[in-house]
This record gives sequence, structure tokens and C-alpha cells, in this order.
Amino acid sequence: MSMSQHRKATRQHTKEHNMRLVLKTIFAHEKGVSRADIARLTGLTRATVSEIVGELVEQGLVEEKGVAPSMGGKPPILVGIAQNNRLILSVDVSNDEYRGALVNLRGEIVLETVLPVGHLQGDKALEAAFALTDDLIAKASAPVLGLGISTPGLIDPQEGVVYQAVNRGWVDLPLKRLFVERYGTPVFVANDSHMIALAELSFGDGQTCSNLVAIKVSEGIGTGIVLNRQLFFGDGFGAGEIGHLVVVENGAPCTCGNRGCLEVVASTRAIEQQIQEAIRQVPDSLLAALVASSGSSSLSALGEAVRQSDPIALEMVSALGRHLGVAVAALISVLNIHCIFFYGPIRQLGTSLLEAVQAEVRRRVLRRMANATRIVFSALGEDASLLGASALVLSQVLGLP
Ligand SMILES: [Zn+2]
Repeated sequence: MSMSQHRKATRQHTKEHNMRLVLKTIFAHEKGVSRADIARLTGLTRATVSEIVGELVEQGLVEEKGVAPSMGGKPPILVGIAQNNRLILSVDVSNDEYRGALVNLRGEIVLETVLPVGHLQGDKALEAAFALTDDLIAKASAPVLGLGISTPGLIDPQEGVVYQAVNRGWVDLPLKRLFVERYGTPVFVANDSHMIALAELSFGDGQTCSNLVAIKVSEGIGTGIVLNRQLFFGDGFGAGEIGHLVVVENGAPCTCGNRGCLEVVASTRAIEQQIQEAIRQVPDSLLAALVASSGSSSLSALGEAVRQSDPIALEMVSALGRHLGVAVAALISVLNIHCIFFYGPIRQLGTSLLEAVQAEVRRRVLRRMANATRIVFSALGEDASLLGASALVLSQVLGLP
């Protein structure tokens, strides 16, 4: 690179940096901010700020939002994010119900669709993801800023390749490339548990935590780890893969080839099996009666049986808490993170489950560290990974928030 090329590249870099800084400052003021205040807050000159704001307005990312009350003299014009001028497309293919959403620049879901696909695998699972995305693209009322895909499995988020997603039958699937080729928009792929951790950090109770762990317990069990407000992927992108941590010596075989993995004893599928087995053994238990009358998920019936102090249900939930507690204790000992969120349908089992996890953690971790850790259920709903995916796109494309 020649000196002049180098200078030009540096100038371009500085300009991009300043642009992101100005956009970030505008984003932080939901009710609008004046150009003079942006200059004061960023340390940039008024001329530079005016030029950048002009470009952002031209791009449609920023708009004028009226005037501030006058402090004597001409009242300053306020500028704010033009939140509906771009949309983020989020897709979640990690459950048997695919979900997709169009999300505005403030992280608000403008439109959400649910596609019940059942247990699809391989190309069929991919085709269903395309169909869902096609539908949302057709409905987008503004240009799409980028596409965020939440998927199960071990993923390289830089290359956007799914190395292995057992439940989808995907091996070395170049998900990012396939979506970029089809839609021509920036695409970001991440593991569903990682997306939930991002959602917790950006929109949930985790907003006040610098570090947090989000544990998703559903068909599979995975963890998203946030350190210093950044997702931590690990050297091989497998950070938080606690689903295949062995918690029962010589336990039942797992799809991964080992025995007694956490997923074998604590995934929702495993819990359903345990419920069926318990009913078979004691057909006249309260649990059996509640499952028979619930009609819907047997998980919610188990939660109800626990609330009514059914001894079989209490023993099941306490064993579940012990197994999850082994993994949580390992996370606490290694990372010393105070904010731990459980996410997923196991929320239906209520505080008895959390108490059992906490009891196991206290047995395995230094008392002081255990006591300082808050283990709670996430308050986020079923669209958490969609929100996380939109937060990922927003941060990658625009550097926000
Ligand atoms: Zn396993």
C-alpha cells in the first residue's frame, strides 16, 4: 500500500468510526438529541457532526424529530433514529416450530410468524427455513438491514457454518453462504442459546449484568455466555456446550456417543420420558391423574404436581435440579458469574426446580461464590432468540447499541 493509499484508508476508517459514534449517540437518546449536544457528547466538531448527521438522514437511518424547548434564541432541532426505515429479519429454526420476525431498529417486533414444521431434518429443514424467510421478505415494508439466524448445534459464527446440529441432521452446512446467495443481504448465524444470552443482555433482566449465563433447557440443553457484555464463543465456538457434560457416571447412552450426558437426563424430552416411566410404575399417583387431565404438556402437569406436593413429582424435580446443578456449579466455579438465567419450557416446573439447583450448587461451590450468584428463570418469552438475532444484526451492521 502506498502512503497516499494508506492515508486514504485511514481517513475512511476514521470517518466510519465517527459515523458509528454519532449513530450510537443518537440511538442512546430515544426522544431525540440536538447536533450541538452530539458534538459535546462525542468530542467531534459541530461541522463534522452536521456533515455526518446529514449523511445519516440521507441514508434514512436518522430523522428530524421536532425542536427542543428554547433556552432563549433559536430552539435546536432534535434528531433521532428513524426506527422503522430499516427492518431486521430474524429467523429461529431451533425448535419444532420455526419462528420468524421483522424487527425495527429499536428491537420492536413489527411482524411475527410461526411455522409448525414438526421434526424436519436435512434439506427439508433448510427448505422450510427458506420458505419462512421468503414470506417475511415479501411482507417487509422497509429495506432489510440484515438477516439473523438462530440455529441449534455447534456453529462457526464467523463463517456461518453449522458444523453439527444433531436434531436437524446438519453437518458442515454453510448456512450463511446459502442465505446470502438467496437474499443478497448481510447474514449472521449463531447458536440459539447464544442468541438467548444476547436477548437477555439487550432486552431482558440481564441488561444490568456485565457478565451473564443463559441456559436453555428444551429439546437440547445449551448455554450462552456473556463476558464484559460480549458473547464468548470459545476457541472452537463450543463455549457453553453443557448439554454433553457427563453428569451421571455410566448413565444411559447419548446421541453424541458418551453416556450419562446432561441432555440424557434433563432435556425436555428426557423429562417427558421420566414422567411416562413414573406413571407406568405408579399409575394411581397424583402426577398420573394430572397428566391424564392436563391434555397439553406433561411438563406443566409435573409443575402442578410439584405445587401440590406429590412425592413422586418432588423427587423427579429434585433429581433434575441435582443434575442441572452439577453443570451450573462448574460454570460458577470457572467463571464466577453472578447472573444465571434458565430459559425454556422448564420454567413451568417453578421455584422448586431453582431451589434444587441452588442446593446442589451450594454442595459443590465455595459458599461465598454460591451465595453471591443469582439463579433465576428468564422473563423473556418465546421470541427471545428472535430478539437476540436482531440484536446481533444491529450490532454487526450498525455498531448499535
Ligand atoms: Zn452427549
